[in-house]
Amino acid sequence: MSDCIFCQIAAKEVPADLVYEDDQVVAFRDINPQAPVHLLVIPRKHISGLDTAGEADLPVLGRLAAVVADLARKEGLEAGYRLVVNNGPDAGQAVEHLHYHLLGGRKMSWPPG
Ligand code: 5GP
Ligand code: ZN
Repeated sequence: MSDCIFCQIAAKEVPADLVYEDDQVVAFRDINPQAPVHLLVIPRKHISGLDTAGEADLPVLGRLAAVVADLARKEGLEAGYRLVVNNGPDAGQAVEHLHYHLLGGRKMSWPPG
């Protein structure tokens, strides 16, 4: 068993509110939502962050973006949404498995905190 919480969720060793899965990508609701819709969209493969994604990972990065757009439609986010990747300590990355935060259902402010 991996000691990475998101690998455990992808393997269904730890429960999560899954909203999408395919052979490469898994999406589930954030346990501590920061907006009415707050999904985490991850590659099944353990990639620690964007900066460690290699050439071979480019297809899954594209797929993550396509799944995000599809989920945004399914979640009714026609009015807009925000896609966030926290990469590294300055960004506050807490889980070292690449994940896209899909946030929507309320007005977002800019700049982000
Ligand atoms: P980060 O700060 O690394 O970008 O975000 C990690 C996110 O993962 C946080 O928003 C946090 O609430 C979420 N999270 C951490 N552990 C779990 C978990 O076990 N289950 C779910 N569903 N979300 C989690
Ligand atoms: Zn992992």
